[in-house]
Amino acid sequence: MPKYVYDFTEGNKDLKGLLGGKGANLAEMTNLGLPVPPGFTITTEACQNFLRDGVVPEGMREEVSAHLAALEARMGRRLGQADDPLLVSVRSGAAFSMPGMMETVLNIGLNDESVHGLAKQASGNERFAWDSYRRLIQMFGKTVQGIDGELFDEALEELKDGRHDLELEAADFRRLVATYKDIVRAQTGEDFPADPHRQMSMAVEAVFKSWNAPRAVLYRRQERIPADLGTAVSVCSMVFGNCGMDSGTGVAFTRDPGSGQQGVYGDYLQNAQGEDVVAGIRNTMPLQELESLDKAVYDELMRIMETLENHYRDLCDIEFTVERGKLWMLQTRVGKRTAGAAFRIAVQLADQGLISLDEAVTRVTGDQLAQLMFPRFADSGGEVIAKGMNASPGAAVGKAVFSTERAVELAARGEAVILVRRETNPDDLAGMIAAQGVLTSRGGKTSHAAVVARGMGKTCVCGAEELEVSVKDRRFTTPSGVVVSEGDVISIDGTSGTVYLGEVPVVPSPVVEYFEGTGEADDELVGAVHRIMSHADEVRRMAVRANADNAEDSARARRFGAQGIGLCRTEHMFLGERRCLVEDLVLATSDEERERALAALEPLQRADFTGIFQAMEGLPVTIRLIDPPLHEFLPDFTELSVKVALAGDGAEKKDRELLAALKRLHEQNPMLGLRGVRLGLVIPGVFAMQVRAIAAAAKAVPGSRAEIMIPLVAAVQELEHVRDEARQILAEAGVEALIGTMVEVPRAALTAGQIAEAAQFFSFGTNDLTQMTWGFSRDDVEAAFFSKYLELGVFGVSPFETLDRDGVGRLVTIAAEQGRKVRPDLKLGICGEHGGDPDSIHFCHQVGLDYVSCSPFRVPVARLEAARATLAGAGSDTR
Ligand code: PEP
Ligand code: MG
Repeated sequence: MPKYVYDFTEGNKDLKGLLGGKGANLAEMTNLGLPVPPGFTITTEACQNFLRDGVVPEGMREEVSAHLAALEARMGRRLGQADDPLLVSVRSGAAFSMPGMMETVLNIGLNDESVHGLAKQASGNERFAWDSYRRLIQMFGKTVQGIDGELFDEALEELKDGRHDLELEAADFRRLVATYKDIVRAQTGEDFPADPHRQMSMAVEAVFKSWNAPRAVLYRRQERIPADLGTAVSVCSMVFGNCGMDSGTGVAFTRDPGSGQQGVYGDYLQNAQGEDVVAGIRNTMPLQELESLDKAVYDELMRIMETLENHYRDLCDIEFTVERGKLWMLQTRVGKRTAGAAFRIAVQLADQGLISLDEAVTRVTGDQLAQLMFPRFADSGGEVIAKGMNASPGAAVGKAVFSTERAVELAARGEAVILVRRETNPDDLAGMIAAQGVLTSRGGKTSHAAVVARGMGKTCVCGAEELEVSVKDRRFTTPSGVVVSEGDVISIDGTSGTVYLGEVPVVPSPVVEYFEGTGEADDELVGAVHRIMSHADEVRRMAVRANADNAEDSARARRFGAQGIGLCRTEHMFLGERRCLVEDLVLATSDEERERALAALEPLQRADFTGIFQAMEGLPVTIRLIDPPLHEFLPDFTELSVKVALAGDGAEKKDRELLAALKRLHEQNPMLGLRGVRLGLVIPGVFAMQVRAIAAAAKAVPGSRAEIMIPLVAAVQELEHVRDEARQILAEAGVEALIGTMVEVPRAALTAGQIAEAAQFFSFGTNDLTQMTWGFSRDDVEAAFFSKYLELGVFGVSPFETLDRDGVGRLVTIAAEQGRKVRPDLKLGICGEHGGDPDSIHFCHQVGLDYVSCSPFRVPVARLEAARATLAGAGSDTR
């Protein structure tokens, strides 16, 4: 039988999958000799079994009882013992941090008898005991019994009657306990459970169940956390931050998660318990002030923070409690940070010698780099209406909205919105996802809004206290009397914490300027990006190319580090003013007419290719011969029909001929019709003209390296025809070029062994390959029904965004293996959109592709992820 329960002394930080992040790190801290209240953790495996079977697994109850008995023996108190109770907290903790997503219940073990015992333990502090008891009923009611939390909040507000929390007295809390019990009875039809063991087992099951709460499901989808991991449950003996002014609770970071600077960074709240800080309920004091309140505790905390950072070799965040002058560590983990801080911290730690540069590369992600490439607000301009805390950097502009529902509604219509709240809670998650940015008037940098926004890479300004936010009236008011109502545009700067009225212009990011070669090199962030990227380029195995169709994009791609062009889509060269030449080609009725039309196009194509070869200076350039169906280059059918009909007999001859051609070429499913290689085989001369233009351009630019790529091949015979013709043209011109094919039809992947006989390279066109593998029209399905599919969990992310490893990826693997078997030096690349997607890039590395190709702007992301994939493969990603 599996072991379902681990004492804190038994685990360690590497057991996150089994003990959750919280349980694993509590065990690690215990083993480091730090002051952690004793306890034990129930495994994620127990949770998985519970969620599967609907009952706790056999043997778990006995194990929990044995561990509880050991804990009681150690503490010298029994759970809920009337005269001297042991109290415990029951906390969720998944392998991946999901801030505020799941449940926690504190103060388990209290009832009408043990509340007196607790007061006795706290030197007769009745206020503290009754406050703790009412918190238990409140948290238990909401979390375990599913009672609407508002009912408890309202009862508390009514009792306070305008008074501050700290002004309430023992009798007030005693009354509140009675009111809360009434609420429980009214809502559940039963009394609040007085039996401490029953409280504990109900709480454990509720935490298990909270894994599947809607907001947790949504968060996992957003963060791409697998749905079947389950949560662990840590049962920890209680320590109290709410037993007087010599007690308190706080959150700390070993470095600034916004900038990466080392220093004292955190929030502290005196005489408070548990979640008060994170929820932003009362405004906290900066952690530095703890030094003057209790120097011994402060010094010990600083020592522990240093120990933790050196031990984890990374930024740690910490939750702690001070109980009557004694410091207790309640949690630590490698902390979330902004994208800029991630780069700075990685380089700082490497400079300190705590980690290697290889490891530094694994500590940042392509998504973080992409965030740093977003524009920022221009320094000048914009009416400043408030200042808050710079909780999560970036520049966001949008219409102010005051509820999650409204944020989701407007965003679905394509509008940019800023979610404005007094404070956020986990129920606001959908609104935060939908919004461009989040603005709150309460709570510090560790409030829910700040932590969650940072994790998502979403711009956030929090704690803008001067704003009067009225959610009910859907507006906020500034001290100077400016009123911003729902729908008014505001701009928020998460890097400085500034709030502006109206739309503020944005300027490019310094990181982009660095890649462009126009920025200042002495910026710390830019320096860190430079160090990491230089090292990434040294370690990565795969090359990175760009998808670019003209000289300008090619030049930018090179500045961004592209080592070649992986896809030049030539059809873009047939549009605009050149369209009339294509029309002539389509309308040609004789060989001569067709030759003439092609001859007119050829010099233009030659000039296009010459520009690209010049920009790439001898790097490989993969040119794909024309792909889409011909009618895409002709006028719109309906418009032309109307024009011809209205003109009647006076209609121009060319218009009538064009209309006839459009009718002739019309296809029900053009994506599955006459395009790509099929078009080249059916309309003579087009591909040959393109190959002549490539050959001539290559000759004109000495040293250029052309690769000719045939699209939409499904059978080797198609490729052979085109290849033979192209070879002949190249030979006549005296130019050498590789000839290869795209793999974008499932049949091509499945017959890759045959196709490789005729192809010198494969490039996976995973846009079409995804379309044809799933049978999803790439132009329609995402808007039509993907939101439903995501909701149903058919997939966690669109297969057009991240490569579907099981299906499309299987075809890629087969094609790569079969192709290389026949031709060991077969060059393999990818040029679909997935070539710039981090997860897909890791897949490409694992399959052994030689390069990925993506849009110029994503080239740096691909360089970084290709390196991370190499290092992960080498086993040096230790996190
Ligand atoms: C592809 O299908 O993945 C591809 C790169 O070609 P296109 O997007 O032009 O169809
Ligand atoms: Mg394609």
